[in-house]
Amino acid sequence: MDTDVVVIGAGAAGSSTAWHLARRGREVVVLERFARGHAWGSSHGSTRIFRVAYRDALYSRLAAEAIPMWRELERASGETLLEQTGQLDHGFPTAIDEIEQTLRAGGWAFDRLTPAEGRERWPGMDFDETVIYSPDGGRVFADRTIEALLRLAEQAGARLCFEEPALAIERAGEGVRVVTDAGAVTARVVVVSAGGWLPQIAGLGIFGIGLPRLQVTAQAPVHFAIRPGFAFPSYVHHVGSDAVDHTFAYGAYGLESPGEGVKVGLDTMDVIDDLAARSLEVPASAIEAAADYAHRWLPGADTSVASAVSCLFTMTDDSHFLLDRRGPVVVMSPCSGHGFKFTPVLGALAADVVEGADPWAREWRLPA
Ligand SMILES: Cc1cc2nc3c(=O)[nH]c(=O)nc-3n(C[C@H](O)[C@H](O)[C@H](O)COP(=O)(O)OP(=O)(O)OC[C@H]3O[C@@H](n4cnc5c(N)ncnc54)[C@H](O)[C@@H]3O)c2cc1C
Repeated sequence: MDTDVVVIGAGAAGSSTAWHLARRGREVVVLERFARGHAWGSSHGSTRIFRVAYRDALYSRLAAEAIPMWRELERASGETLLEQTGQLDHGFPTAIDEIEQTLRAGGWAFDRLTPAEGRERWPGMDFDETVIYSPDGGRVFADRTIEALLRLAEQAGARLCFEEPALAIERAGEGVRVVTDAGAVTARVVVVSAGGWLPQIAGLGIFGIGLPRLQVTAQAPVHFAIRPGFAFPSYVHHVGSDAVDHTFAYGAYGLESPGEGVKVGLDTMDVIDDLAARSLEVPASAIEAAADYAHRWLPGADTSVASAVSCLFTMTDDSHFLLDRRGPVVVMSPCSGHGFKFTPVLGALAADVVEGADPWAREWRLPA
């Protein structure tokens, strides 16, 4: 075998997996389709929301596991990566009640507020129906995290190959052969963490990996300047009904990104039929929609100054993550728009599965 483990994809999932495996002494080769620091996937940009406030307790527990691992990653990299600056949810009362239950059951601190109390505390925001504040939430720094993970993986001996897409996976004895334009790499195990490109990796079926339906979309979060004197916690604005998905359905989300402004992400997605033909250009309508939202809900935002990026948003039908192993093939994808906060723990889980742990031992789901 050329190496112990090949990791396909160097986004949040792949770079974290490579770091964990390399520091555990595994020989690792990372194949990444694009250049280092690229903006074509899901893991670029300055910030992401960190929260323990979930309707589904599974993700709250996972976020709890992630906190000490973020701190460990910060110590190892010398970078600030997680800031627990606080996070709030507001809107649809059923969602807020369920979040309260999860926080209460997990022993987390929280404040339940009326919209008027919310406005008093955060005058840069307006609030819908009912509010819950979680001081343990906040933000994580995305680009900085990916670069830190790649650097640490390299320092621990991983070989990083950029602009070298994996084309197919084939059997090679008990292991795998990962085919690229440059040739092939044989390995004992391959971890496929290709995000929205997952369905394009040829050969998964040979190993009995049956992917669930994945919808690949693009979302364009917009940053607006912040009017003097205002500050924003991370926020999730829940709209909807009991019929919507229970894990993360919301109408809008955002946070303050230092130096950039306040982010507005809306739950509107452009379906991407052909990833190769995708443009990174953000339509003016996306910025207008975010400005309309900010006019209504974020009086502390200055919508005359805006910047936006396109981000790939891959969704399973139930918003859960993928983690599975069939023989020498491990699939790891947080998908579904809420995975970044778990980055250090996702890589640890994938590394555990590479080393023989049962992916079904936790409540992960990958429909057959
Ligand atoms: C707009 C937006 C907002 C979000 N907000 C939040 C948030 O606030 N909080 C939060 O926790 N999460 C958030 N997320 C979700 C989070 O960012 C994602 O869950 C996470 O980044 C997914 O990482 P990934 O590694 O699975 O995918 P990616 O980052 O897309 O990584 C996959 C990598 O695989 C590479 N690749 C693909 N095909 C191949 C191939 N054949 N060979 C080699 N390499 C290949 C790609 O180039 C890419 O680098 C958000 C996502 C988006 C899009």
